[in-house]
Amino acid sequence: MTATPVAASFAPWASETLVFCSDPSAGLRAVIAIDSTALGPALGGVRLKAYASDAHGAREAQRLAAAMTLKNAVAGLPYGGGKSVIFDTGAHDRVALMGAFGEAVARLGGAYLPGVDMGTTPADLQIMRTRGATVSCADDDPSPWTATGVHAAIQASVGHLDHRTDLRGVRVLIQGAGHVGADLAWKLASDGAQVLIADVAAERAALVAHEVGGEVVAPEAVCHTECDVFAPCAAAGVIGAEQIASLQCRIVAGAANDTLTDDALAGALRERGILYVPDFVANAGGVIHIHALRAGWNAARLHAEVTAIGQRVGELLTRADDTGGTPLDAAKALAAERLQAGAAAPVQAGPLQEVAA
Ligand code: NAD
Repeated sequence: MTATPVAASFAPWASETLVFCSDPSAGLRAVIAIDSTALGPALGGVRLKAYASDAHGAREAQRLAAAMTLKNAVAGLPYGGGKSVIFDTGAHDRVALMGAFGEAVARLGGAYLPGVDMGTTPADLQIMRTRGATVSCADDDPSPWTATGVHAAIQASVGHLDHRTDLRGVRVLIQGAGHVGADLAWKLASDGAQVLIADVAAERAALVAHEVGGEVVAPEAVCHTECDVFAPCAAAGVIGAEQIASLQCRIVAGAANDTLTDDALAGALRERGILYVPDFVANAGGVIHIHALRAGWNAARLHAEVTAIGQRVGELLTRADDTGGTPLDAAKALAAERLQAGAAAPVQAGPLQEVAA
């Protein structure tokens, strides 16, 4: 297979704003991509990672920022989409690195609200905050809310296919027994669903299976194992063309970002009769949680807003049926409508409310 040269697809004008940041004294090289601020400041995490080239890092920031635009718009949140990458050059003094990045974020005047992503922690966000950045980091773990949203998405998609409101006896294969996957397993088991779970860390899968009365599946067998719902909650890019040919499920609905290696595969899933719930719709519980902290919602409101993901999934699946498109087409169309409405009535800039520590 010939790998597509990511650098060749680097598109500097694809983002609303693309900022390259440098502070040699702190070892900082970073890119901040703001995909859209049509609905509000661009919310999205900071990834610390080594990249093959500057263009690879920039392109990843742009691609992930665009996905955040879709996620926030479909979730009905007053945020645009952004993402940033700090090039991991093996540096140095973490406080200096994150502090310098915080200053770069602060220079954007609140247009970008950084949060945690791969390679960064709430402690890093705290450092950025001390250097003037307004951060969206929650000090508590968003994973239970992400799991709650995925659970609601699974309920809705099973309900859509089978016209039922319960999950009793439904076979759900969860890939990844981590923060989201383990919590999801508990929720599904308490619904009477049959939980199958796979993890490359075998002991983690075994523990969760034992706790919820489920069954362990070998990590390499997830795409061949018969189930009703496949819930990817591990890594990106788990479904490519090859996996679609072998999947033995009726529904794909999970938390992992970038579940499909290519958006065009949503059509291939539909042709195989597999209902695909877009990852950015199902996994929005985490960003809804961030907004709850900023907006001062109480727990009941937060729970209601996260479980409303199920209703949203039901509406998108119906829209896809009505229009003949995929659920991914329907979700993108909904996002486009909201972005168009947002651009027509720009959000009034006001003082940003800081998240309580
Ligand atoms: P986590 O790191 O806690 O758990 C991931 C688990 O997947 C780990 O136990 C790991 O061993 C396992 N794993 C990795 N590769 C695997 C593979 N190929 N097969 C089987 N298991 C594998 O991560 P998490 O916080 O539970 O998040 C799960 C996924 O959901 C990630 O892709 C994350 O980006 C996405 N997500 C998480 C949140 C959140 O709130 N945590 C929000 C949105 C999206």
